Amino acid sequence: MSMNILIVDDDQVDRTHIKRMMRRIDSSNIITEAEDADSALVLLVEQNFDIVLLDYTMPQKNGLELLKEIQDQDIKKHSAIIMMSTSEQEELALSCLKAGAHDFIIKSDITGYRLRRAILAAQARFDMETKLKESYDKVKQLAEQDCLTKLANRYFFDESLKVTISNNERQPHKTALLLFDLDHFKYVNDTHGHDVGDLLLQKVVHRIHTCLRGNEVFSRLGGDEFAIILNHVDRVGDAEKVALRILKVLIKPFCINGAEINMAASIGISFYPDNANSASDLFKKADIAMYKAKHLGRNQIAFFEDEMQQQFLNRYRIENNLKQALYKQQFELFYQPVFNCADSSIIGFEALLRWHSNDGLISPEVFIPIAEESRLIKPIGRWVISQACQQISLWQAHCPSLTMAINLSPVQLLDNLLLSHIKKCFKTYDINPQTIEFEITETALLDDSWQTQAVIKNLSELGCKIALDDFGTGFSSLSHLHHFPINTVKIDKSLMPVNEVDFSNEKLIHGLVIMLQYLNLNIVAEGVEFQSQLALCQSLHIQKLQGYLLSKPIPPDEINKFSLFANYPKITPCVVRQ
Ligand code: C2E
Ligand code: CA
Ligand code: CA
Repeated sequence: MSMNILIVDDDQVDRTHIKRMMRRIDSSNIITEAEDADSALVLLVEQNFDIVLLDYTMPQKNGLELLKEIQDQDIKKHSAIIMMSTSEQEELALSCLKAGAHDFIIKSDITGYRLRRAILAAQARFDMETKLKESYDKVKQLAEQDCLTKLANRYFFDESLKVTISNNERQPHKTALLLFDLDHFKYVNDTHGHDVGDLLLQKVVHRIHTCLRGNEVFSRLGGDEFAIILNHVDRVGDAEKVALRILKVLIKPFCINGAEINMAASIGISFYPDNANSASDLFKKADIAMYKAKHLGRNQIAFFEDEMQQQFLNRYRIENNLKQALYKQQFELFYQPVFNCADSSIIGFEALLRWHSNDGLISPEVFIPIAEESRLIKPIGRWVISQACQQISLWQAHCPSLTMAINLSPVQLLDNLLLSHIKKCFKTYDINPQTIEFEITETALLDDSWQTQAVIKNLSELGCKIALDDFGTGFSSLSHLHHFPINTVKIDKSLMPVNEVDFSNEKLIHGLVIMLQYLNLNIVAEGVEFQSQLALCQSLHIQKLQGYLLSKPIPPDEINKFSLFANYPKITPCVVRQ
């Protein structure tokens, strides 16, 4: 098979000699000559040669120097290189081989046979090197690339971030780290399956590529989490622009296998050296900012700020303490009485959780969201149900009609153990399910997963009542009232007039109450604090009231103390006896 050969030698006699021998080996060989290193370099850049025969001794630049230049510029990709020299020094041969030559021959030894052997040996070595390089590249790619999206993987990202930061140490520019994950991606996987989830990730990556220049390190860190390292950023606004572009390209729904899927991302951004002085710190801060972005309501961008770290640490501390709170028996249930609006008698209670943490009493408004996010609300919620059932069974021994309202967060509705636990509690404490009302918020109903719907339906079929909590704060959707087995609607305290003279919401409440009454729903007014609010509820014939005016949530012992409510202000003693 004919070969394309380059002979680099300043000595024309030697060149002609070698050329003749090459032709003798195979007359179809195409031979090109170069008389110095520089013209050889030009030829090597322009053409591919199978074999390069390179003389060591040349004026200006010797063969070894040329070889090193070829290596540095990475231009000998397709050539097997044979070094030629008049010197028999072994050391020279060795340094040529080390520098990347595939064989070394002494000019005085050159015969047709010797040259042919050198070519075969050089080609064999070259082939081996190429294969080795290919398999090395493949392994490297596997180690550094995410198979699904072909983006750099976590390992490559970590290494790149470290290198970028150390390269930028004394530079005037900033490095920005954008960390983001896709909002509710898990929901896509759960409802449409992993294949659709995978396709969606690929499409998302494709769209994000259009927002980038190509010189950024864009990595998939795992799952639906991505990172982009922006180097040489002059202003904070430059990173913000990229982030905004990303949010924008994701707005258009994705169409996958006929399904239309909406996606958004929450992006956290941190800067080196402004926010951090190491790669790991920069990452941590982008993570904190991303967490903040999620809390801002998703599809958001958040920059790291110092106080965020404080908030993050607080949250972290609360979550850690929460993990042990059940075991350390730090929880307690308070009960807020629910009153009959007509005669101010107690109809029942709402169980409200209190946490006596190592740092003192922490409000449920603070720890419940953390318990939900960490899923700790599942075991905690089961504990609440047991306690509340036990308590109401004691009070029902005196007044069987008393009801107990128990809050269920959306996460609890996804607790596989919830239903069996409730049934067990009903059995243990001999509870009539009709006297238990589970309070859920509209956010729980927004999750249209089959599990949420099934749990609500099962609870209802068990005989329990379902109340829609905090009505008026969220979507206040009428369709929810239709589609779910709702018995009661709790009008949120924010709808109540804020003081004795505020009547701004009166019409709204009035309309709402008429509508709810028309739908045959029970109504509880929450947050009744003033006499005027009580009067308003009475005038609207709202059946049940809760609020500080009548009673704050209190520990069960205190409720027992009132020789069951006899001395309780504004309450007509119920038939209940201790
Ligand atoms: P929520 O279910 O809407 O409970 C009513 C909240 O309003 C309670 O706050 C109660 O103390 C407060 N409240 C009652 N009357 C008045 C009033 O007249 N004025 C004002 N300003 N507030 C009043 P709390 O106990 O701090 O609970 C806050 C939230 O934490 C609850 O809101 C509920 O969403 C959640 N939560 C409490 N206990 C539990 C629980 O056991 N499980 C779950 N999943 N969530 C719980
Ligand atoms: Ca409630
Ligand atoms: Ca409420």
